[in-house]
Amino acid sequence: MKREVPLRKQLEAQLETLEQRLVRLEDHQRNRHDRGPTLDSDDHAIELENEEVVEALIPKTMDEITLLRRALTRLDALLPGESITCDRCDKPIDPRRLALVPETRFCARCA
Ligand SMILES: [Zn+2]
Repeated sequence: MKREVPLRKQLEAQLETLEQRLVRLEDHQRNRHDRGPTLDSDDHAIELENEEVVEALIPKTMDEITLLRRALTRLDALLPGESITCDRCDKPIDPRRLALVPETRFCARCA
């Protein structure tokens, strides 16, 4: 498999995206509480829908950030040139899998 972007860079980029999203979500929520509804009724209906989405997204985004930080900590513990390997078959774990389940100790085949 071709690996265009090193895992660390990839995870850092994901982490940055998530942190920016979290800031926007929290801003959105805070502004609503400060301002109250100021939009006309059509827009207000859309806003209410958005708010449900926002409330569901904030904890999800926080969880993802925690997992990514953990994955980065694991990567930092590796020596240069080393990759995170499967505890069972000792093959490198697919970076895409690590990005999804950063604390896994097994490759997709062994899990
Ligand atoms: Zn394995």
